[in-house]
Amino acid sequence: MIEAHQSHPSRLFCACFGAARGGGLYLSGADPAVRFQDDLFRAANGGWLAGTEIPPDKSRFGAFSQLGDLSDQRLRDILDELAAHPPAASSDAHRVATFFTAYLDTEAIEQAGLGAITPLLAEIDAISNAAQLAQWQGRMQGLLDTPVALWVMADFKQPDINRALTWQGGLGLPDRDYFLLEDDTRMAEARAAYATYLTELARLSGEAEPEQVAATVLAIEHRIALLHWDKVENRQPVKLYNPRTLAELINEAPGFDWAAFLQSAGLAVVDQLSISQPSTVIGMARLFEQVPLADWKLYFKLHLLDQSAPLLPQTFRTAHFAFRGRALTGATAELPRWQQAVAALNRALGESVGKLYVARHFTAEHKARMQLLVENLLAAFRSSIAGLAWMSPQTQALAQDKLSKYTTKIGYPDHWRDDSGWPVLAGDALGNVQRAARFEWQRLAAKAGRPVDRSEWGMTPQTVNAYYNPSLNEIVFPAAILQPPFFDMAADDASNYGAIGAVIGHEISHGFDDQGSQFDGDGVLCNWWTDADRQAFDAVTTRLVAQYESYEALPGKPLNGRLTLGENIADLSGLQIAFRAYQQLQPAALIDGYTGEQRFFIAWSRVWREKIRAEHALKLLTTDPHAPAAFRANGAAVNHDGFHAAFDTQPGDKMFKSAADRLRIW
Ligand SMILES: [Zn+2]
Repeated sequence: MIEAHQSHPSRLFCACFGAARGGGLYLSGADPAVRFQDDLFRAANGGWLAGTEIPPDKSRFGAFSQLGDLSDQRLRDILDELAAHPPAASSDAHRVATFFTAYLDTEAIEQAGLGAITPLLAEIDAISNAAQLAQWQGRMQGLLDTPVALWVMADFKQPDINRALTWQGGLGLPDRDYFLLEDDTRMAEARAAYATYLTELARLSGEAEPEQVAATVLAIEHRIALLHWDKVENRQPVKLYNPRTLAELINEAPGFDWAAFLQSAGLAVVDQLSISQPSTVIGMARLFEQVPLADWKLYFKLHLLDQSAPLLPQTFRTAHFAFRGRALTGATAELPRWQQAVAALNRALGESVGKLYVARHFTAEHKARMQLLVENLLAAFRSSIAGLAWMSPQTQALAQDKLSKYTTKIGYPDHWRDDSGWPVLAGDALGNVQRAARFEWQRLAAKAGRPVDRSEWGMTPQTVNAYYNPSLNEIVFPAAILQPPFFDMAADDASNYGAIGAVIGHEISHGFDDQGSQFDGDGVLCNWWTDADRQAFDAVTTRLVAQYESYEALPGKPLNGRLTLGENIADLSGLQIAFRAYQQLQPAALIDGYTGEQRFFIAWSRVWREKIRAEHALKLLTTDPHAPAAFRANGAAVNHDGFHAAFDTQPGDKMFKSAADRLRIW
C-alpha cells in the first residue's frame, strides 16, 4: 500500500550503504585466474560469481541481500515463538504478532475480495468537483503516492524546526525516464508491461473498457513525467529549498485548491512550506484543471489498486508481481509471503519489532566496539583534513568544526516510539496497513512547525543499512548492520577496517560530499567555503564524474556520474580514511599468504560481492544514487595509493593509474 515507487523526500539524503563480507577466508569465492592488479572485484569474487545463481525470488543477490535475509529470518523466529506463546493482549508484542498473522492469512484476504478497499473506492466515486479531489488527496497522504506529495522534515536553513514540504510523485514506473526515453527499447518494454498491468487492474475492478482506462491513465502519467525534475536536479538542496506561504503558493500555482489539500492533510496551521520543485507544482496545478475530473478518478482508482494489490485477492497479486516483480526487476518468483509480511511489519510497527530484535541480537559489547571504531575513523578524518593540499587553512578550520559537531547513533534509539495509537485487527491485513499509514502520517504532520526531536531515528534497528543526515549532522548505524559476518568481533583488524571501517568512513564522508558539504556543522544550508576551495572541490569531483561515466553497466548504458557522485565521493573518501585508521594499528602478520594491507582491500572488494538481473540493473541505473557493486569496489580502489602499494601495480596492469592521476578528495 505504501510502497514508494518514486524517490521520496524522506530518502533525500539517506545514504544507504548495505554490504556484507565473508569472515576471514580470503580465498573463498576468489578467482585465481584473475590478478588483483587487473580487476580487484573479480579477483576476490570471480569464483563466487561463476558458481552462484540468483534465486528465483531475488532481483539481486550477494553478501548484502544474504544479510538482509538473515535479519528477516531472525524476526520470523521471534514471530513464530510469539504465535506459539501468545503475549499479553495489550502488549506491543501482541500487536506485532496480530499484524503478522493477519498479513499471512490469504484465505481471509480472498474472502474479503475488494471489500477492504471498497470504502476508499467509494470515496473516489463520490468526488464531484476539483476541491473535493484536492481534499481527498490531502487525506490520502501516507497511504498513496500523489502527484504532489507532502512530507515533513527539518528546515534546511533552520534545522531545529520541522517544516512541511512538497515533493513530486504520482508515477507508476520507477522514473520519468521510463516515460520520456521513447527510443530506449528496455524502457519501452517496461512501458508495455505497465500498460498491460493497468489494463488488468481495470478489468479486475470491473471497468467495462479496461484498455481505454489504461490508455487514459498512461496519458496522464506521461504529462506528469514531463513536469518532473530529473534525479540530478533533485540532488541540489539549494534548488530544492523554496519556502512559500499558502497565499504565495495559491498565487504562484493557481488551478488547485491548496488550502483544501493542506487542511485535509492535517497541515492547515503551517505558516509556510517548502516547494521542492516549483515548476512541477505549477504545472501540476494546471494539469489538475486541464484533465477532466472523470479521468483523474480513473487514475487514482488504478493507483490505489496498484499500491494495495499485495493485500488484495490472488488475481491482483498475480498481476502485481507480473509487473512490479517480473517486468521491473526480472525476478521469476514472488518473495515468500512471510518475508513480504516481515517487510510490511517493519514499515507499520518498525520500532515495536526493533525492540524485540535488539533484545536478542544486540549487546553492549557490540556497541562499545563500534563506538571505538567510529572514534578511530573520526580521528583519521580529522588528520586527513589537516593534510589536504587543495584546501585553504580557513576552510579546513570550518571543516574541522563541522566534524567536531558530528553526532553518532549506534544500534537502536534511546527512546522508543509509541506505535500503539491505532488498532491492529485480526483478519484485516489491508485495514492494518492503512491504519498504520494514517497514524504515521498524522504523527509526521503534527511535527510541522515544531522543534526537531534529535533523538529520533530514520531507520529501524533491524535494517541492514546506515545513513548520514545533514540537517542533524549525524551518522547512524542500526543494529542489524553491526553483526557477523559483516562486523565480526572475531575477525582480524584488516577485514573489519576494510568492511565496517569503510562503511563508517563512507557515512562520515557524506557530510562532505557534493550535497553534505553545503550544510555546516549545525546542519544549516549555507556556503562555508571560500570560492577558491569550492572551485578546487568541483574540479576534482568533475573528474570523478568522468571516471564513473566511462563505466558501462548494461550494453550501451553508461553510469550517470552526477547522479552517483555523492555515493562515489563517500566510497572513495571512506576507503581513504578507513585505510588511514587501519595504518594506526600494529603491523599485522600474513594470513592466507596476504599482508594486512592486501587483506584490507580484499575485504573491501568482498563487501560488493553481488549478482543482479538486467531488469533491476536498468531500474537502479536510472534511479539509484549508488553505482553498481563491481564499479564501487574498483572505482574507489583505483584512486587509492594504498591499493597500488599493497599489490605493487605496474604500467600495463588494467587497474594501474599513475600517482598523478589518482583522485583524492578527503
Ligand atoms: Zn552512502
